[in-house]
Amino acid sequence: MIINLDANASYGLLPEVKERIALCESLYNPSSIHQNGQKARALLEDSRSTIADFIGLSSEQRLIFTSGASESNTQALFYPFWKEINNNSVANLIVSTIEHPSILEAAVKLSDLGIEVRYFNPFATDAIPEFFSLIDSNTKMVSIMMANNETGLILPVEDIFSRVKKYSNSIITHTDAVQAVGKIAFRADSLNADFISISAHKLGALSGTGALIVPKDFENRTLISGGPQESRWRAGTENVIGISSFAAAISCWKQNSLSWIGRMQNIKTELLHFIASSFPTININTTLQSLPNTINIEIPGRLADDLVVAFDLLGIAISSGSACASGKPLPSHVLLAMGKTPEQARSALRISFRADLSDTEIGMIKDAFLKLFN
Ligand code: PLP
Repeated sequence: MIINLDANASYGLLPEVKERIALCESLYNPSSIHQNGQKARALLEDSRSTIADFIGLSSEQRLIFTSGASESNTQALFYPFWKEINNNSVANLIVSTIEHPSILEAAVKLSDLGIEVRYFNPFATDAIPEFFSLIDSNTKMVSIMMANNETGLILPVEDIFSRVKKYSNSIITHTDAVQAVGKIAFRADSLNADFISISAHKLGALSGTGALIVPKDFENRTLISGGPQESRWRAGTENVIGISSFAAAISCWKQNSLSWIGRMQNIKTELLHFIASSFPTININTTLQSLPNTINIEIPGRLADDLVVAFDLLGIAISSGSACASGKPLPSHVLLAMGKTPEQARSALRISFRADLSDTEIGMIKDAFLKLFN
């Protein structure tokens, strides 16, 4: 058994999700009119209601299934700009510098297509005033994540979006809520967000499934063209088994989220205390306002990618913040935005865990730390 300290990458299937998948018969096309199609449609719509209910969707919002949050993010970011692209327009988009690559890369694509992209750094001293100084009458969209996947930082999205909407109700707001759902208080109807992206595999369901929350009164503009599925917001036969697994995971979170959040918070406190008291040279990059299951640490003088291998050999899956480009590890853009040097960023590890991490596993993690860092 490998201990999962990389739950922000993938939570791993919940036992109830495995049961749901095992029970699934052949799932047919939910757009087919025959009985097989109707069964698939019923499961699909049932799943939609379960997820919508847990995330607090209002009657003015619609939940569209996608292939995952990368697609949801790309679709949301392109939404306001289809008519502006290559049109000599002066439209601009504002994103934070610490977004997931699916936002940052989509922003680069938009920039290549002539849209101005403005970046704001949430770690800057005057981050919020700086952010508001970027907005002008050409701003079409603002996209800010709810919680960062690398450091766990929670951003005050609800408050920022409320002020954006006061400035101009026509600016479209989007949040990537992938890491927030389940782990912090979350209601889709009170975020002041027009679009919200979520992902199934961060919650213990199958990967390859996600959703985009859209306002019902927005004109539908698709990223994927084809059939009329998902109220014409996303073409393609729905991934019914992935979606059903998503609903099964959500049902577990609905039943347990308070106790799971409490357990994650306790584990985090215990690990932070252990690291701080046993290894005074290790820096903790995670701030107070952060996800209950995420800790980012920096081990001066050690290369995080080597440490990932060392932990792996001890049966622990952990991750470094770096992305690998052509075999050369790049320092994390999130840690660089925090003001870390590339060398410091290359020595950072992310610890992210499930709520069911056992005390025995916590003991094994501490043993591994003592072995590797003493
Ligand atoms: N956004 C955040 C914050 C993430 O952590 C991830 C996954 O790592 C994604 C988006 C992409 O999600 P998916 O794997 O469903 O495309």
